[in-house]
Amino acid sequence: MGYFHQYICSNCRKIHSLYHSEDTCQSCGHFLLAEYDLYKARREIDPREWTRGSEMWKYQALLPKTSPSPLSLQEGNTPLIELEKSASRLQIKQLLIKNEAQNPGESGRDREMSLLFTHLARQKRSLVLADGINGLAISASMYSTRAQVAALIFIPQEAPDRLAEACELYGATVKRISWNQKNRRTVKESIPTDQTTLYDLNEHGFTYRIEGAKTLFFELFETMSPLPDIIFVPTTEGITALGVWKAMSELQKLGWLSAHLPKLCLVQSKSSPWYVQGGTSEAVTAAAQGSNWLDFRNHLSPVSGYVLKLALNQKWPLISIDDETIQETIKKIALEEGLLLSPGGAAAVAAISTVAPRNEARNALRCVVINPSSGIRCFQQLRRSWNEPEQE
Ligand SMILES: [Zn+2]
Repeated sequence: MGYFHQYICSNCRKIHSLYHSEDTCQSCGHFLLAEYDLYKARREIDPREWTRGSEMWKYQALLPKTSPSPLSLQEGNTPLIELEKSASRLQIKQLLIKNEAQNPGESGRDREMSLLFTHLARQKRSLVLADGINGLAISASMYSTRAQVAALIFIPQEAPDRLAEACELYGATVKRISWNQKNRRTVKESIPTDQTTLYDLNEHGFTYRIEGAKTLFFELFETMSPLPDIIFVPTTEGITALGVWKAMSELQKLGWLSAHLPKLCLVQSKSSPWYVQGGTSEAVTAAAQGSNWLDFRNHLSPVSGYVLKLALNQKWPLISIDDETIQETIKKIALEEGLLLSPGGAAAVAAISTVAPRNEARNALRCVVINPSSGIRCFQQLRRSWNEPEQE
């Protein structure tokens, strides 16, 4: 049975009932967080038997009860891959990769979209709008098809065709736009649909996406004992970090986790346009052409400010890695371990050297790195940059 019992505003803490149909606060407009009756759950759930099945929906006692039949492509249950050679080179005890590339859409976004579209399938939404500058465009296209909700993807004019083609393959409509905030708004308002039934993923959906991201930590909790010392989280909007933290807090309130929680380390690229958007080639193109999407992005990330405050409060390290180091790390891990990480995953591996202590405690350090998506997706662009010095 489910224990989902209310929403709380991430900003003003106002409580909203389950019948509140929006996912933003009535008073201040900020995003809402799902809350569970954890005291009741603590009395009723046996921690040894709280999961059934193999994919992420087995955790539905601690997920929003959005439908008796979730929209699933068997997302989650991704492997933890041990990198022994790399751990030894980094002089740490253990390095495990939580490989989110092994989701159905090769990205951890699938967890978020499975939760979100299960919710949207029950709402009267005519159209979901997502941007092709972040990693969720393909996942949103996939799950919108499954939910029978139309999807419209905005893609920058200069972005490569293959992103548009992938979204179209899943039945999404792609609209190429000249990329800035003002223009996006104008194009959005001109869409010939009832604007009240349009669901823009830049403004909505965080409540459910965070719950989807939460399942990643539930899997770590279920499969790892003891838990790692540090979890390195490649951070874009901060949804994954928030999901992991929320899962830890809930398990702690259930009395299943001790006071000693793994530390989170949030990792970004120094030139965030390349990395913040998941290292996708379209973001690189946008950055290279000096588009003003950074401004665009700041406007669009209600979650980022919340996560930043949380990180400061919890004293999580915030590490930025330069692109050269990210590329070197991708190559190193591919040659050392036969695993092609995404730029995000590589940045997170590179962050270990910065965060690991220089004393003997380093040899006992156990790290989990989240590889958020497939390295194969960015392969062509990576290969291009690898070849550059030889061409000179
Ligand atoms: Zn509020």
